Amino acid sequence: MSFNLKHIPHNRPTIGHDEEMMALKVLKSGWLAQGSEVENFEDEFCDYLKIPRGSAVAVSSGSAALYLALLSLNAKGENVSLPTYSCSALKNAICLAGGNPVFVDSMLESPNIDLAKMEHLAKIAIVPHMFGMPQNIQNSGSTPSVIEDCAQALGALNNMVPIGLQGDVGIFSFYATKIMTTGGQGGMVVSRKSPIIEFVRDYRMFDARKDEKNRFNFQMTDIQAAIGRAQLKKLPMFLERRAEVYNQYKKAGFQILDSKEGVQPVRFRAILRTEKQLELIKALSLKNISATIPIQTDELLSSNIQFPNALFWTENTVSLPIYPSLTDVEVKRIIQVVKTVL
Ligand SMILES: *Cc1c(COP(=O)(O)O)cnc(C)c1O
Repeated sequence: MSFNLKHIPHNRPTIGHDEEMMALKVLKSGWLAQGSEVENFEDEFCDYLKIPRGSAVAVSSGSAALYLALLSLNAKGENVSLPTYSCSALKNAICLAGGNPVFVDSMLESPNIDLAKMEHLAKIAIVPHMFGMPQNIQNSGSTPSVIEDCAQALGALNNMVPIGLQGDVGIFSFYATKIMTTGGQGGMVVSRKSPIIEFVRDYRMFDARKDEKNRFNFQMTDIQAAIGRAQLKKLPMFLERRAEVYNQYKKAGFQILDSKEGVQPVRFRAILRTEKQLELIKALSLKNISATIPIQTDELLSSNIQFPNALFWTENTVSLPIYPSLTDVEVKRIIQVVKTVL
């Protein structure tokens, strides 16, 4: 290990003075729980997606958003399609909502779910836009309801339209390592369908209700929302810097994952296709740089035998550092090491 070289983490949230001031203002205001800052954050999030205000509900995490999206579509007892190559949050949310997970393989040319292989009997499909690469869900066949999982792709467009609104409902995550954060955890549900938004809003208001419905506390705090508002203002800047880093990797000749034409991705992850996974991660680590296998074989959401493409993605990819605060000098250091291995 070269301890004289400063460590380059795989991920680093970009938090500055604005986030500190916004959070401090809430701390000093005497109102800490869900309040006006959450409302402002929801409004500004709608503005960003160019949808009418009132079409977004902030919640405590992306997982909570997925769970509520499933409940709003009456997932209990229903088959729900999901990719086996994805985040465990999908399977957890389906099972907790009482649905039956129906696993689907990825494509070979993209780690996104193969819509053509989707179970025709499934009532609902969760379609995640993996690593910032949007998927056109117009081809989701006979599946009646689609939840777009935009946890990794905030800001991406499909034919110039922001993702999250092609299906019935979209969800976002503001976890610490995502494209923007609300201070560690947070999520959002968006929909053009008012019954869905009303359902989620009602569910979130769990306290002092007069009916006997079961609800749960999935609220976002005003401190989180205030940090989110500061981050949302910087989002275009974040995405631009991510694209610059991505382009530097591309210029270096790396076989790095990209989308097809017609969609406008965001550079959430720099995914290198390589057979030398462990060799590369070790070489980087010896130079004090952290890279990861984005999803490992034993993290697949179901037994991998039936899903050759998902298995391929677990065995042939390495995720390189990419985030707004990564400097050009750091990018050069990473490129040098990767070149010695490939
Ligand atoms: C992170 C993530 C989630 C879960 O979001 P949390 O805020 O961590 O609960 C769901 N789906 C995908 C694709 C994710 O990357």
